[in-house]
Amino acid sequence: MQLADRVEKVPPYLFVEISRKIAAKKAQGIKVISFGIGDPDLATPSAVIDELRNTSLDTPNHRYPETDGLPEFRMAVSEWYKKRFNVELHPDTEVLPLIGAKEGIGHASLCFINPGDIALVPDPGYPVYSVGTWFAGGNCHWMNLKESEGWLPNLSEIPSDIAKKAKVMWLNYPNNPTGAIATKEYFQQVIEFAKSYDIAVMHDACYTEVAYDNYKPISFLEVEGAKDVGLEFHSLSKSYNMTGWRIGMAAGNKDMINALMIIKSNLDSGIPNAVQYMGIEALKATDEDISNRNNIYQQRRDRVVDALNQIGLSATAPLASLYVWVKVPTGYTSAEFAEILLEERNVVVTAGNGYGPSGEGYIRLSLTISEEDLQEGIERLKGWSIPKK
Ligand SMILES: *Cc1c(COP(=O)(O)O)cnc(C)c1O
Repeated sequence: MQLADRVEKVPPYLFVEISRKIAAKKAQGIKVISFGIGDPDLATPSAVIDELRNTSLDTPNHRYPETDGLPEFRMAVSEWYKKRFNVELHPDTEVLPLIGAKEGIGHASLCFINPGDIALVPDPGYPVYSVGTWFAGGNCHWMNLKESEGWLPNLSEIPSDIAKKAKVMWLNYPNNPTGAIATKEYFQQVIEFAKSYDIAVMHDACYTEVAYDNYKPISFLEVEGAKDVGLEFHSLSKSYNMTGWRIGMAAGNKDMINALMIIKSNLDSGIPNAVQYMGIEALKATDEDISNRNNIYQQRRDRVVDALNQIGLSATAPLASLYVWVKVPTGYTSAEFAEILLEERNVVVTAGNGYGPSGEGYIRLSLTISEEDLQEGIERLKGWSIPKK
């Protein structure tokens, strides 16, 4: 048997390795505290679960869903965008339900990338942007994010011959893994750049509802001209503690939505209807619901940042996202530091270089950890004196 290069050459998905390490420790009878994967530990709101309970009993919901989803879910998305961001979206042409943002992001490359084409991809970044590009036969031009530039791609560093050939640019704010945020002015520059080089902008906005200290993240689509050049990917996973139910959406340019619909209708058969009814209910969450949930993460964030600072790192509290992104001590690589933390304290963090070479020198800690584990994890951190290298 000969497997295709796309299978043979793709690096293992980041969290597969982490899961393996945790399993090895567990096999030795050791309890590991994991700040690894970003997967909300909090329950899906009970009204949303009730909707699953009720709608799953209706026989029509047992049949194939439509790829473009229930008109009621598309309408709910359109109304949510209006209420949350004051963005107008036609529910039938500018909204497309997804089986999670990851699915849509992975498939979007098939809309824009011919073999040999270039995608502009942030480094560090969520791995699906680059892997989706490779699966479509394209190549990545890495946009190196730097702390000194607020982890925003420096558009003037993209060589014009590359920009002329590039078909798509990937962005993600609030950002995973750095916790960075983008301003309207930055998005305006992106739109101008995209227009001058005819590049499609794909903005992954799956953390807009996870924010702290009264900060309200913006949508790319709020910015004038955004709909001319791009799409925004959204997810109910992080917003409403729904990672297990698999539901998200793409919104924006109607020709791009249609292209994604063409790809998806040939590969998948949509989101189970009962899960879409859950989505409709989830999108009804009030500002108070969201801020109550965010207060929990904010307290965790502050305790994690405090513990990291106590052991001599210099962590700052992010304004949004589920992650604390912090520099490792001098002399260590990201991987060495993550390794020694696991060895000496049985605490898992993600090595920054797992998100791309520019993540080297950092680690990421996720705030999606139960109260009990958080307490234990913080004690393990605080009781540690980092060996000098
Ligand atoms: C979690 C995450 C996703 C995946 O969202 P799903 O809707 O669960 O597929 C997409 N992008 C980023 C940056 C994420 O962190």
